[in-house]
Amino acid sequence: MDMMTMVQRLTAVYGISGREAAVAEEIRRMAEPYADEIWTDRLGNLICHKKGEGPKMMFAAHLDSIGLIVTHIESAGFLRVAKIGGVRPEKILHSLVRFENGTIGTIASSGTDLGKLSMEDLYVDIGAESREEAEKKVSVGDAAVYMGQPVQTGTTLFSPYLDDRLGCVILLKTMELAADSPNDLYFVFTVQEEVGLCGAHTAAHGIVPDYGIAVDVTCTDDVPGSRHTVSAALGKGAGIKVMDGSLMCHGAVVERLKELAAGHGIPAQPDLMSAGGTDAGPMHISHDGVLAGGISIPCRGIHSPVEMADLGDVDACIRLAAAFASSRLE
Ligand SMILES: [Zn+2]
Repeated sequence: MDMMTMVQRLTAVYGISGREAAVAEEIRRMAEPYADEIWTDRLGNLICHKKGEGPKMMFAAHLDSIGLIVTHIESAGFLRVAKIGGVRPEKILHSLVRFENGTIGTIASSGTDLGKLSMEDLYVDIGAESREEAEKKVSVGDAAVYMGQPVQTGTTLFSPYLDDRLGCVILLKTMELAADSPNDLYFVFTVQEEVGLCGAHTAAHGIVPDYGIAVDVTCTDDVPGSRHTVSAALGKGAGIKVMDGSLMCHGAVVERLKELAAGHGIPAQPDLMSAGGTDAGPMHISHDGVLAGGISIPCRGIHSPVEMADLGDVDACIRLAAAFASSRLE
């Protein structure tokens, strides 16, 4: 299956943190030809195992996306909401959102100072004229995700769900390319990353890998006004994670990824994020320690309704992940 078809299929399904089953099901169908066994664990992580005699490697990409959850329905039919994951109020005003049952709304604000928006200022308007009318479509506890079709123009890709459905696509493509790997490979599509790196934590405890690689988006330093607290740039290749808010990557993994990129002619760049975690963090500190690192997709507008990535970078991430999955390590 070509990559854009995969992106389209994985971004069409609803999958907020805690409700990832539809995304997992779509991935299971795509992964079946490439895995020896596939199962879903108790929390909902989808685990695809390709057996091998070499070291145990766990690759993780998360299924879930961020969004908003209804906390209160006003008498006039407007929905008050709390955030699920790292939602920034100033990035989402006037965006469309959709609920799991297909109900669509727009994010509006009752605040007067648009420069100082907080979540308490925001509400979702689904066009209902009363609480009774709203309750026919939505209940307290229902959650909504940003709305938007993926768009490709040249090598640039836009979608609200690049974080981390693009990582899931990279894992699927890596499974395909690493068919002859000598290693014992676990491709784990994790749940609830956006609310505390939960799925990778329990999956790593179950699998007990020797190596762990998280594949996720990373912020870029190439936009106007950037304060240089991150390092990646769009179009400069796969990010080799050095650190993020959840770990300092193991030096052996960082060096190995650098060597593989250089040896295979894969464009790559260092990836440092001073805040924000990834699934590499919980893998790193599971059991008596896992040699963990990350392969990162440079992405502008992370956690906004329009995330942007470069398909050349995605290709580099796939090649680097496949090279690591196939490499002979002790
Ligand atoms: Zn992510």
